[in-house]
Amino acid sequence: MKWSKLLVSTLVVSSLAAAAPAFAEREIADEPAWDSEPAPHNYDPQKREEADKRVFDKESFQLAANPVIVIDPGHGGDDPGAVGNGLKEKDLTLDIGLRAKNYIVANYPATVYMTRSSDTTVSLSSRTSFANAQNADFFVSMHINAATDASANGVETYAYPGSVNGKRLATETYNQLKSSFANPRGVKEYAYYVLTYTNMPATLGETGFISNASDASKLAQSSFRQTLATQYASGMHRYWWGF
Ligand SMILES: [Zn+2]
Repeated sequence: MKWSKLLVSTLVVSSLAAAAPAFAEREIADEPAWDSEPAPHNYDPQKREEADKRVFDKESFQLAANPVIVIDPGHGGDDPGAVGNGLKEKDLTLDIGLRAKNYIVANYPATVYMTRSSDTTVSLSSRTSFANAQNADFFVSMHINAATDASANGVETYAYPGSVNGKRLATETYNQLKSSFANPRGVKEYAYYVLTYTNMPATLGETGFISNASDASKLAQSSFRQTLATQYASGMHRYWWGF
């Protein structure tokens, strides 16, 4: 937790305060940033740059019809992530991640690895070094948002600042996920650890706020989590095969 760095509140200019709704919530989700741990041993900036320049067209599809995907369910074990409304972020992300993996493997010609498949503690460097060791084609980190303002709600996805393919992956998943939420918060950029030290295009999704009663009641339902998993998978499919 890096509250000092990540507590970026939206400031409401006093003259507008009367007319504007209260925005006592973060613009950037509270997830571990680039400086939370040292870089993993196999981080390779050159590889990362080449992957970001890759052009997706029919020719490249012939070369890699079977992508390697790494799904990263946020938190786990000693780290529950955000907690609220009787739910723990680590449980929701694992469930959505496993459902997404099952959906992808059943429907698409892809190889899917998980950074964790149970309620275990996994460091950030282990998550990224694992993806780098697998030579994954892309990386999807799954999280649930939280805010002190219980009215904050909705979905957003992130890419590393300036990453072209990361932004496209974030946009494709966002375009699928946004139909599940009343508040589409947009595609954003931030140097989260897992977006910084992966050698391949990566996104981090925040599907709802555990601190919001309405989002939490939906997240508590397995049918809703299955829908999110399917939407994540569809977004990945559009990213890889959607040319
Ligand atoms: Zn998280």
